[in-house]
Amino acid sequence: MSQPEVLRQEIISFVREQGADLTGFARVEKWAETAEVPQEFWPQELWPLAQTVIVLGMAMPLPIVETTPSAIHMELYNTCNRELDSLAYRLTLWLNRQGQASIFFPRDCYGSIKILLEKPFAAFGHVPAAKYAGLGTLGLSHLLLTPAFGPRVRFVSVFTTAVLENSPPQAKELCIKCQACIKCCPPSALKAPPPGGGLAVYDKIACAQRAYELTRRRCYPCGVCSKVCPIGDDRKLFQATKNTKKYLQEKEILTKESDHPDYRSWEHFRRYGSWYEKEVGKR
Ligand code: SF4
Ligand code: SF4
Repeated sequence: MSQPEVLRQEIISFVREQGADLTGFARVEKWAETAEVPQEFWPQELWPLAQTVIVLGMAMPLPIVETTPSAIHMELYNTCNRELDSLAYRLTLWLNRQGQASIFFPRDCYGSIKILLEKPFAAFGHVPAAKYAGLGTLGLSHLLLTPAFGPRVRFVSVFTTAVLENSPPQAKELCIKCQACIKCCPPSALKAPPPGGGLAVYDKIACAQRAYELTRRRCYPCGVCSKVCPIGDDRKLFQATKNTKKYLQEKEILTKESDHPDYRSWEHFRRYGSWYEKEVGKR
């Protein structure tokens, strides 16, 4: 096995032991080849020594995501973010000790939602990095869909000077264009793609406004587009392969019967631990 391949396998073992669910490698040339991302956001622009971006993913268990907006979902999100940053930090230090200069970009990296309302971009995007690292394909929702978890996975990226082989791309398109993400988005921040295809028309400010409101109520983030996406093997694990109808009818049924048994446990988690406002009345 070549030296770079030995290092690649060591990185995979290291991050697996430390709790990563997904690992992929993207050579920095991918950003220039595809030219999908504005140049100022390319890893080689942010750190000219970078040769490879190592993308790490951790899963968000579906039954908790389904309770959104809730304090339990907020805690999961914060825990996942903390763990991801720690994982990237440990890998960065480990690579530096091996003589491979490395830095990491944290999982979100914005100071507050108010900042996002004015400028809804982070300094680096993990979604294109994860796509170039072969971890998934883009859904209509603009989220990265992965075979194992659909969009219910969060990412962090480590930039390294090590020249490592690019992971193979996902073999097939994962989004089935069901539009559940569009139909269920509470503020209608996602709209059907223009004729001819492409991703949903995405109103980032409307999405950030929803996040701002949920932050005030201590039950951020929104994540409904992630909850309702039918893609992901995690649905088999959690016996939730046939939940789309339940998601699509949630608003209508809860408007008529706020204590409907099908949604009672989700509403329970929404009612306690955060400022509860009946979601159905707000849509
Ligand atoms: S996070 Fe919520 S508001 Fe934003 S696009 Fe997804 S469903 Fe819509
Ligand atoms: S909910 Fe449906 S349309 Fe939206 S990203 Fe998932 S598979 Fe694609």
